[in-house]
Amino acid sequence: MTGTMTEKPNDGQTLKLPLFSVSRLRMEIDGDGVTTLVAAKGCPLHCRYCINADVLGDSVASRAVTPEELLAMVKIDDLYFRATNGGITFGGGESLLHAKFIRAFSEIAPSEWRIFAETSLNVPSELLREALPAVDYFIVDIKDMNPDIYRAYTDSDNSLVTENLRILAEAGRCGDVKIRVPRIPSYNTDEDRCSSVTAVQAIGPFQTFDFFDYVLR
Ligand code: SF4
Repeated sequence: MTGTMTEKPNDGQTLKLPLFSVSRLRMEIDGDGVTTLVAAKGCPLHCRYCINADVLGDSVASRAVTPEELLAMVKIDDLYFRATNGGITFGGGESLLHAKFIRAFSEIAPSEWRIFAETSLNVPSELLREALPAVDYFIVDIKDMNPDIYRAYTDSDNSLVTENLRILAEAGRCGDVKIRVPRIPSYNTDEDRCSSVTAVQAIGPFQTFDFFDYVLR
């Protein structure tokens, strides 16, 4: 897999997140209530219309932060999070590459904060299992469930997406997942999107689907 992974802890050291940006006071954009989006570098995919290309490579610097340092940066909005049932949304890039960091952060963050993760689910399943106890809600961009369309658009196989959807279903977490189903210009059709929903529902009782269009810039 390519992509920037969270720095692993060495003896006497702690996890660090390759932080790309922090975006405060987002209203019901990437999670319920008021959220702060924490974007980290690294992604295993190569989407043709990637809107976050800066998070993929090394052309834009990131700052490595510990869970404690991130908490100090985001706690300014503690009251907003508590009042609106909001919290922290981890994005990127691929948030679940940093599952250990998310887990460590959730253990020091106020329990009233909710933790959201934006993900493609195209990560090794052990990363999803690591994140499961820490993440309250997953926002999953499946691209398209047709393997041929997926590969044409992302240059990647989507078998891990299917496997990880199954893990979420087996964990009884379908109610904690929003499935994003994009219309990808030149790659899929509305019929393909309906097929994707059918394929996802064959895996488990996922109920929340978000149909939207990728907008080309
Ligand atoms: S999953 Fe997101 S960040 Fe990764 S390549 Fe695709 S659009 Fe870019």
